Amino acid sequence: MIWGIVMIAVTSSLLSDNIKILKGEVSKTAYQGVLIAIAAIIIGTCITCLYVTGDISLMGIMNAQKQNAGLWILDSIPFVFGFWGQYSSSVIAYHAGAMIFDQTQELRTKTDDLERQTNYVTTHDPVTDLPNRTLFYDRVERAIFAATHKDLLLSILLVEIANFKEVYDTIGRTSSDLILKQVSTRLQGVSPERDSVAKIDGNVFGILLTNVIDIVEVEQLAQYIQKALEQPFLVERLHFSVHTNIGIVHFPEHGEDVDTLVQRAGVALDLAQSSHKGCALYDFSLDKHSAKRLTLMSELRRAIERNELELFYQAKVTINTGKLYGAEALLRWHHPIHGLISPDEFIPMAERTRMITQLTPWVLKQAFRAAGDWHQQGIALKISVNLSAKDLHDPELPDLITGIAAATGIKPEWMMLEITEGSVMRDPEHALDIIKRLHAKGYQFSIDDFGTGYSSLAYLKKMPLTELKIDKSFVSDILGSENDAVIVKATINLAHNLGLQVTAEGVESEAVMERLREYGCDIAQGYYLNKPLAVKDFNDWMRSSAY
Ligand code: C2E
Ligand code: CA
Ligand code: CA
Repeated sequence: MIWGIVMIAVTSSLLSDNIKILKGEVSKTAYQGVLIAIAAIIIGTCITCLYVTGDISLMGIMNAQKQNAGLWILDSIPFVFGFWGQYSSSVIAYHAGAMIFDQTQELRTKTDDLERQTNYVTTHDPVTDLPNRTLFYDRVERAIFAATHKDLLLSILLVEIANFKEVYDTIGRTSSDLILKQVSTRLQGVSPERDSVAKIDGNVFGILLTNVIDIVEVEQLAQYIQKALEQPFLVERLHFSVHTNIGIVHFPEHGEDVDTLVQRAGVALDLAQSSHKGCALYDFSLDKHSAKRLTLMSELRRAIERNELELFYQAKVTINTGKLYGAEALLRWHHPIHGLISPDEFIPMAERTRMITQLTPWVLKQAFRAAGDWHQQGIALKISVNLSAKDLHDPELPDLITGIAAATGIKPEWMMLEITEGSVMRDPEHALDIIKRLHAKGYQFSIDDFGTGYSSLAYLKKMPLTELKIDKSFVSDILGSENDAVIVKATINLAHNLGLQVTAEGVESEAVMERLREYGCDIAQGYYLNKPLAVKDFNDWMRSSAY
């Protein structure tokens, strides 16, 4: 806009200056014409005077001027020149001015086009042509302004294509761009206001809803969006499904400015990721949580150096013989302010932020050292260690483990590495490769939390597993829930058919232990035997218990 005004000001001042110069140039020629005409009159009159009287005198000149009609014509020439010069200078200047004006108009149109293009590029997403984050924020700001004055409600939905990275890795950029385009069209179709959809990040869309009358409608819209995006996308004759998460905030309830609202919609999106509905409304208690989580993360970095971490051990007992089989190493954090923090509170977060790549080596060192110590004392415990998804995709893991085993003097068969289906399924080929490399060195693998993940039997068969652990959510209630009992029984049979030993987690009573024995379960782990204990307490427990 400013460019345009400056251009117009500069060109119009140039225009009037140029007309003056042109006019001046043409007038100069006209003045010269007038001078030549006057000189011609003087010379013509003198010659006529000389011709009539024989010499040149004032009287003779005056008589010649009075009597000679030819000189009268000559006398009128300077006026003709003067008038004609003025006229033609005005006409030329006018034409030139008009030409410059036309060119300026053209220049102005071009400048406007250029400005519009620049504006468009800086406010729209190049792939989907939707408004980008900048324009979305601008629209939300205006909507907030209008809503404040009219006492209206607004809502913002953030829609995330959760598996976009996988889609991108599988089909490449061009095809995944086509999916984004189709997503944007479907979102525009389902949104009440077509121009309210924006693409505010690589895989995140924003939808602004003005004129919200009832917030229930917003949640309904979120469901329609999920339905609309559930249908597979057709790209290069292949069908692709995307998983969506939706975070919702309302104005003025959850914030009064665009930054707060969008940030809180992001917090709701985080929650949606872990909820089975894939959709969540912002809640103030979430933020306290996420602020605490953020500080915890930065503190976790220092927790290792400050010796705040410790491995606890929970017994695994062979059900038939009643003998101690081994122990699972479970991480604990003694936080100087918050006290003992459960791994459920910081491990998933550490996995998301790559902090896990520092935690796992520490856990492995401690667990391997403990296994070595027990074996040296003649206590042949098999120590289970949990690995996370990121660990399973780290090509250096086999070397890391080999190095730690050499440094601590343990044998691979003293250890059991616990992995979950989910962590394998994230990138099965790479995970399988790493598992096989470690298996070739003599390490055994256990599939943890069985029944809670995707349960892909095809992959289960491909993996060199030794053990299957039934998740505690099925085990703890086998006496009360017929359903759980059936699942546990069937899983035990399945595992045995695949040649795997079965550990049941979450055994909290003798009765459950007894029922598991009836089902043919091999190993039990749970509060009935012991809670996870520090090494010293575990040693005391071993001495005092019958196992
Ligand atoms: P998990 O691997 O499934 O570990 C079993 C969890 O069940 C432990 O929780 C354990 O204390 C709990 N548990 C055991 N017996 C019973 C019982 O009878 N009743 C009930 N209600 N719970 C029981 P914990 O120690 O809080 O660990 C939670 C999760 O954190 C673990 O689940 C594991 O996924 C993760 N985790 C723990 N330590 C590590 C670690 O060193 N590395 C990684 N990557 N993950 C870890
Ligand atoms: Ca485990
Ligand atoms: Ca488990």
